[in-house]
Amino acid sequence: MDIDDTRFDTDPLPDLSGEEIPESPPGFDSLVENAVDFLEVAVAEIEERPKYSVIHFCAGIELFLKARLLLEHWSLVVAKPGEVSREQFSTGDFESVSMRRAFERLEKICGENLNEERTCFLGLAEHRNRVVHFFHGTYAGKPDSNLVEQIVIEQLKAGVFLMRLLRHRWRMQFENHYDSIANVEGSLSRLRHYLKAKFAIIRSRLEAFKAAGGTVSTCHLCKMPAAEVTEIGALVKESLCLVCDTSRNHIRVQCPECNKAEVEFDVAEGTCPECDTSYDIDFLMEKFEAEGVAYCPECSYAKEHSVIEFGDGYLCVSCGNETIAWGNAGGATRKLRGT
Ligand SMILES: [Zn+2]
Ligand SMILES: [Zn+2]
Ligand SMILES: [Zn+2]
Repeated sequence: MDIDDTRFDTDPLPDLSGEEIPESPPGFDSLVENAVDFLEVAVAEIEERPKYSVIHFCAGIELFLKARLLLEHWSLVVAKPGEVSREQFSTGDFESVSMRRAFERLEKICGENLNEERTCFLGLAEHRNRVVHFFHGTYAGKPDSNLVEQIVIEQLKAGVFLMRLLRHRWRMQFENHYDSIANVEGSLSRLRHYLKAKFAIIRSRLEAFKAAGGTVSTCHLCKMPAAEVTEIGALVKESLCLVCDTSRNHIRVQCPECNKAEVEFDVAEGTCPECDTSYDIDFLMEKFEAEGVAYCPECSYAKEHSVIEFGDGYLCVSCGNETIAWGNAGGATRKLRGT
């Protein structure tokens, strides 16, 4: 099967045959339609009116988060839940939840783990706030191409995270809006030529990196062959994409069964591409000669302690995040000790 170039995520879609789509609460459909509308407008105006694109794109993302909260309970969409009646809610007479609070509720009340999404979407919200509340010199006059490029890349990244939620984790809940969500993805993917333009600019740097013996891989997010891979430990590599500025750690281990290929681990599991042998977290612990000391504050791996001591700091063998700060930061220390 050919890979559809307009699709952002190439993971197989969940099979929903035989599953019953839950009935949506009142207001859900119009929230989603509104969200789609804002995103479409944002994409359409990005070149001519980037300032408004930033504002509208962010509004679209917020509406999707609110729609998800609404599925849990209508009061979660309200800034101060105890102070608004259901009637006020149904007429729209209330202040709605901020994006930061929406994430807190999604994580604490709905039990969602949204680390990557939170970082990315709150970045959009900060950008929007700067644009709305202060005079932003960069947006004065005719939009310059660097600015447009930067905003496009920001929105494409957010689009990947949004589509991942709507097509996979929240697929069932948003199934009735599948077509319009696919249209948003199609509109966003028409902006991909910006990635290619940026790629053309950084190409010589990548070539130099390769010539000096470096490895370049495909970015997991923007899918451009633009990620510089550097080793940060015998089994851990970091890739940094020069197109979308995303970095990520990978754990790769030479397959002990066939010795012919490296097994790449994701969520502490990996399968050898040569001999098909599968490995799990126990194998990794043995390989690192380590023991799990804590749950990871960065990822959703909850089966067992996935954080090990690594160099001067810690490494999560599930998501590959490595940091010294976990041991020192107040909140994170609690989580690290959270046995
Ligand atoms: Zn990238
Ligand atoms: Zn093998
Ligand atoms: Zn982790």
